[in-house]
Amino acid sequence: MMDVIVAGGGPVGMMTAALLHAAGVTVEVYERDCEINPQSRATTLHPRTLEVLTMLDHGQRRISDVLVAEGIQVPHAHFAMLPQQLDYRDLDTPYPYLLTIPQWRTEQLLAEHLHAHAIAVHRGAEVTEVEQSADEVRIRVGETWRTARYLVGADGAHSLTRKATGIDFVGTTPNVAVFAADVHLTEPMSSSQFFWSPVAGHAATVPLPGGIYRVFGAEIADAGLTAEQVRRRQAEQFTLADLREALIRICGRDFGVHNPVWLSRSSNSGRHAEHFREGRIMLAGDAAHVHLPAGGQGLNVGLQDATNLAWKLAAEVNGWAPERLVGGEAGYDRERRPVAQRLVANTLAQDALMHTFSDAGAALREMVGGLIARHGEVSGELSGWLSGLAISYQRPDAAHPLVGTKAPDIPLAEGNLLRALRPDRFLLLDLSGDLPHVVSARVDVTVVTRRPTGWDGVAVALIRPDGHVAYAAEGYDGLSEAISAWTEPRHQPAHLGEL
Ligand SMILES: Cc1cc2nc3c(=O)[nH]c(=O)nc-3n(C[C@H](O)[C@H](O)[C@H](O)COP(=O)(O)OP(=O)(O)OC[C@H]3O[C@@H](n4cnc5c(N)ncnc54)[C@H](O)[C@@H]3O)c2cc1C
Repeated sequence: MMDVIVAGGGPVGMMTAALLHAAGVTVEVYERDCEINPQSRATTLHPRTLEVLTMLDHGQRRISDVLVAEGIQVPHAHFAMLPQQLDYRDLDTPYPYLLTIPQWRTEQLLAEHLHAHAIAVHRGAEVTEVEQSADEVRIRVGETWRTARYLVGADGAHSLTRKATGIDFVGTTPNVAVFAADVHLTEPMSSSQFFWSPVAGHAATVPLPGGIYRVFGAEIADAGLTAEQVRRRQAEQFTLADLREALIRICGRDFGVHNPVWLSRSSNSGRHAEHFREGRIMLAGDAAHVHLPAGGQGLNVGLQDATNLAWKLAAEVNGWAPERLVGGEAGYDRERRPVAQRLVANTLAQDALMHTFSDAGAALREMVGGLIARHGEVSGELSGWLSGLAISYQRPDAAHPLVGTKAPDIPLAEGNLLRALRPDRFLLLDLSGDLPHVVSARVDVTVVTRRPTGWDGVAVALIRPDGHVAYAAEGYDGLSEAISAWTEPRHQPAHLGEL
């Protein structure tokens, strides 16, 4: 029997399959569409996403290397399309920028990775039914039923997996219809432009690779609608003429938009799955959360879901997962559902800032923009959140303050931390140079050659396969118990020599 079936071969499904395979799990993907979706959709990769894409190879390089070589590096990110932007240049990452690259290219590279590693992706294969028992999951594709030990539902916003499993999708109903288009302009721009008017609406133009621009926004008449009105607006065809007229009303000119590649309307519905796991079935990506496309976060948070999920599920499949990883304090649902809740909350906040077309809305924008412009705590918090770098997981009360945080890309005796991560291995970092000999089947020991900022006094740190700090301490007492607690189902103490 297959270990894991992934329903949905979008970016999140492919990333999950790639990491599961790298951890020694047998996995196959069932995807409804015959080809990769050619629409740009997500145009933005944030720093943490480039970091996790560094875990996957593409020939002699990593997927992130290929993306960085092809995309446009933008040093600033926007929050609610405010003109005062967040500065990514000082972020502690090898990727201190937003990378503008169409989603289809990220998907293409993931598909090439799966192909190179002989991971089966069944295209034109729609999952129509899902069942689970105490021992297995079953999915129906056409006339056949396939069986596996676990199922990951990465089948997008309308996830059949989520519905068939009876998991609620809780959140807000939409009241704004937003437009988005990929077009050419006769007035080229070298950087993003933002327009907001309390009497007309808002719009933005963002340069993409290949001379194309993402143009998006909302008109005042499309805000404050009922859910039914939003649904009807989305069902109407959105044409180039509609886009031109909307831009003239909002910006006073249409920038010479022509040759559209893609035109669409979406909504500001913000929802997340009530549980990310039910028995042997897990949800990831848009299947687990949807929101207003604001700040380019959907694809990013989804790929980070996959990174959090894959190593834990692999540990469970391979029989060594301690309770804390299965349903305990470090379980997938316990760690990623709060991230989805905050994602929905921050996009709702952006929604209010973008779509409150009134003098009050203008005042709110001016105030928040002013706080961001100070480049202090507010912009630091927002940058940490949007970039994905400040997402940290629960830290037990007595634990070192680094526990749960994402480790920086620390220089190691050989290479750097991000390129040393493996989805089935922990890294034990020796920062003192006198770490006792450690014997554990799932831990690689490595020496740190340059101590990162904020790690003063730390002698040893255990890094999870997804790059977060599992344990850190200034001495070695408790190290063997910590290793066992993370890597053994029954917490047999690891053996430390010569303590
Ligand atoms: C206009 C727009 C702009 C966006 N801009 C951004 C942005 O700038 N930045 C950002 O991060 N995100 C953005 N997003 C969101 C981003 O596109 C999604 O978050 C991302 O695609 C989620 O990936 P996923 O793999 O979870 O889901 P999807 O990409 O939806 O993939 C799900 C896959 O499952 C397949 N599938 C569905 N049902 C079944 C079934 N029953 N059986 C088999 N296969 C099935 C689908 O065919 C699809 O390939 C945008 C989205 C839109 C619509």
